[in-house]
Amino acid sequence: MSFSDLPALLAEALAARGYEAPTAVQAAVLEPEAAGRDLIVSAQTGSGKTVAFGLAIAGEMLGEDGRVVPTREPHALVIAPTRELALQVSRELIWLYGPTGARIATCVGGMDASKERRQLNHGAHIVVGTPGRLRDHLERGALDLSNLRAAILDEADEMLDMGFREDLEEILNASPNERRTLLFSATMPKPIVQLAKRYQKDALRISTVGEDRGHGDIAYQAVAVSPSDIEHAVINLLRFHEAETAILFCATRDNVRHLHATLTERGFSVVALSGEHSQSERNNALQALRDRRARVCVATDVAARGIDLPSLSLVVHVEMPRDAEALQHRSGRTGRAGKKGTAVLIVPYPRRRRVEMMLRGARINAEWIDVPTPEAIRAQDHERLLAALLAPIETDEEDLALADRLLAEKTPQEIAAALVHAHRASMPQPEEISDRAHSDRREDRQPVHREGFDDVAWFKMDIGRRQNADPRWILPLICRRGGITKNEVGAIRIGPNETAFQVPRGLASKFMTAVQRSATEDDDVHFLPSDGPPQGGHGGGGGGQGGPRGAPRGGPNRAAAPRHQAKPYQRKGPPRGPRPQ
Ligand code: AMP
Repeated sequence: MSFSDLPALLAEALAARGYEAPTAVQAAVLEPEAAGRDLIVSAQTGSGKTVAFGLAIAGEMLGEDGRVVPTREPHALVIAPTRELALQVSRELIWLYGPTGARIATCVGGMDASKERRQLNHGAHIVVGTPGRLRDHLERGALDLSNLRAAILDEADEMLDMGFREDLEEILNASPNERRTLLFSATMPKPIVQLAKRYQKDALRISTVGEDRGHGDIAYQAVAVSPSDIEHAVINLLRFHEAETAILFCATRDNVRHLHATLTERGFSVVALSGEHSQSERNNALQALRDRRARVCVATDVAARGIDLPSLSLVVHVEMPRDAEALQHRSGRTGRAGKKGTAVLIVPYPRRRRVEMMLRGARINAEWIDVPTPEAIRAQDHERLLAALLAPIETDEEDLALADRLLAEKTPQEIAAALVHAHRASMPQPEEISDRAHSDRREDRQPVHREGFDDVAWFKMDIGRRQNADPRWILPLICRRGGITKNEVGAIRIGPNETAFQVPRGLASKFMTAVQRSATEDDDVHFLPSDGPPQGGHGGGGGGQGGPRGAPRGGPNRAAAPRHQAKPYQRKGPPRGPRPQ
């Protein structure tokens, strides 16, 4: 199936965008059996659904000459849950329908309502908006739906979740019964089915979920890191991929602010999107990403809902989403409409098992990889530099004259080296990941006798080498859960599936009470008294009784592990600007 059977102006608009063939959902709405009917469509974001409903309503919009039928009142109305999605839909419809002479009005909360009223008064063929704002215009008489031919509810499940039912009902009730109603929804829970029953007639059900699956073109990767290394992992992933556009997800607006500040300090061109930003700040941020002034966006789930940036090829889950659905939703910002994308989960070691379960449940095959090392990043940089500097360029006389002057002063090798240096100096430095440094050092430690460890009690916890247990994060975890300091923990022995450690006997009962009290649903790790070290254990830090454990640099305050702490990731050391390599 191609786009060639479409009205000529729409086919030309698609060709001008370079879209050669319909996506599955577009092909489905263009089938003859869908013509003129109400549709209830399960399609995910990224499946090309906006163009799909644009094409589906061509019959309602265009006259025999292929141009829009003149009208004062709108013929089509698109309702979307968020401002960003509404603005995005309107952008898509503008390039698709612009050549047909369509005027498109956008009505979204947070924007200038009087300007929208003027647009509506002026006459719009298509109106796109959010439910609350559309209802306002309706109630004030600015929006007249008496001539409406097609109503489209985009991301209907989100709209109901967000409490827009009444607004939707009022809007639909104000439009003629014989209008077409197209309902798009990623999921079809009961309230959606009820809405469809009430407002649709003989609707054709279309489901392309699976064919256009959000993560069809997304390669999932996961990296397990010490909690104190999360920001370093983010930096190295950004530097390794050098994606044209990347999005980083955090759980809270505080963490968005924090990571945005860190990355700005490190020399990345980065914007932030969270609930604390005004509409104009959000628009500016998105525009900066679109015109490539910024390449990285740090966002919360809600702020990033519905965002469509075609150049986005890397999604990093800096903090884990609340469930598998949110994971797919976030990841679906990339790999859109046939493009390839990468979604990387940064997983603090203690959460690895939980994440593996989530991935299994969602049937996502993630490859567990190491954080890219500075050497790997430099190797990538070299390839990219060579490609960039060897690419053909157009020069003018001024460039050539300057080149001659340079050649008169320096050798070609010196000039080329200066060029390479200038390019490299503009790139933020990769980070050394401390686990590597740690494992390189681990074998060097010799057992020494420690005061207070002549009489010890052994405890064990149910994580071991297979769960990436490592003293760097285990020690802070023991201290936090047991209310003791790192000097009150003796030898740590890491076995395949469990880890044993010593606590001075005098502190044992206080320790046990504290670990029981600090156990939360959220914590994966269980503590129990133990008879001694596990068989075949590996000295995670020192051999005999009271041996040193190789405490992490910075001590327990720095290496935070748990999710229920205010800040799930921490940065190490003072902020630094970009440094020349
Ligand atoms: P949507 O699912 O509407 O958010 O669309 C996702 C992205 O796919 C948008 O950037 C569309 O412009 C793009 N797109 C829509 N249809 C096609 C197509 N047939 N071929 C390639 N890209 C498309």
